[in-house]
Amino acid sequence: MKAAVVYGENDIRISEVPTPVPGAGQVLIKVKASGVCATDVKILGGSGLPKELPTILGHEVAGTIEALGEGVTGLTINQRVAVYPIAACGECFFCKQGRYSLCFKPYGLGHGADGGFAEYVAVPAQIVRLKGIIAINDMPFDMAAMIEPTSCCIAAAEQCGTKAGDTVLIIGSGPLGLLHTIVSKARGCRVIIIDINDQRLAKAKEVGADVTLNTERDDILKEVRALTGIGADSVIAAVGLTKVIEKYLPLVRNGGVFNIFGGTPPGKTITLDPRWLHYGEIILTGTFAASLDQFKKAVSLVRERADVIAQVISVRCGLDDILDAVERVKKGTALKSIIIFD
Ligand SMILES: [Zn+2]
Ligand SMILES: [Zn+2]
Repeated sequence: MKAAVVYGENDIRISEVPTPVPGAGQVLIKVKASGVCATDVKILGGSGLPKELPTILGHEVAGTIEALGEGVTGLTINQRVAVYPIAACGECFFCKQGRYSLCFKPYGLGHGADGGFAEYVAVPAQIVRLKGIIAINDMPFDMAAMIEPTSCCIAAAEQCGTKAGDTVLIIGSGPLGLLHTIVSKARGCRVIIIDINDQRLAKAKEVGADVTLNTERDDILKEVRALTGIGADSVIAAVGLTKVIEKYLPLVRNGGVFNIFGGTPPGKTITLDPRWLHYGEIILTGTFAASLDQFKKAVSLVRERADVIAQVISVRCGLDDILDAVERVKKGTALKSIIIFD
């Protein structure tokens, strides 16, 4: 089969590799759509490069079931599915709470196990056992590839405890900032989104943001004060820039929640005034993945909000064009890129 294989830092090549044979408990998926995530780009750039190379990235996978390994029940050949990417052990302290992203044995698609930038994926037995292969029925595959990133936004919203009537401020109007907007609007929140790029802000407006502010032109702190009186109930930082995070910490109101959603480069730090945290009773938190339960909620949300979520996809291309797709994510010149297989 054809696959985009990572051999090392910034070294990804389209290669011919053996098609995996599903072992006991595994399921072979014929990949139809696979989303390119900022995480993939970070990994390619050397931050968090897997220990075992070569490997195949891609954890936002939708396709059809091609073959079932020994002992797999409850799934059928040709079934249209999306795959929850975390192969959690199911037994550790965190797994018992359903917090699979914190499993003591971090493993999953594109993370130790070969992922979806390939014509076929053998889904690890742990994912099959957790019932992480989810039927999508008639949902188009490109939309099903949006389930995983949407689930991460739902996880952040739940971590923040956002509810109807809240003001949610989103930092960064990239593809994930847009998905946060859609998720927050679905929860009945008012959304203020800030970014440096007017084109991206216009897109945010299209998918439902109530207020857009340009970080270069607008006095963000002053504007948010004027709009909210006391600051935002929750702030979600969908950027990986420590300076930006640091600068906008004061946008959250006292007693509110600030969520660091975008991964930052290793070794970078932020400075904050402990008195701000202490006397403001601020909750500072983070989210990077989702639980299986949140993944299932994302299946419903992608179905319900298909029209707006489709607007977050700006590029659909073949596997051969993956390097261009990665480059676009790096430069921020595209929204979500989905690799499509025939
Ligand atoms: Zn992702
Ligand atoms: Zn575990």
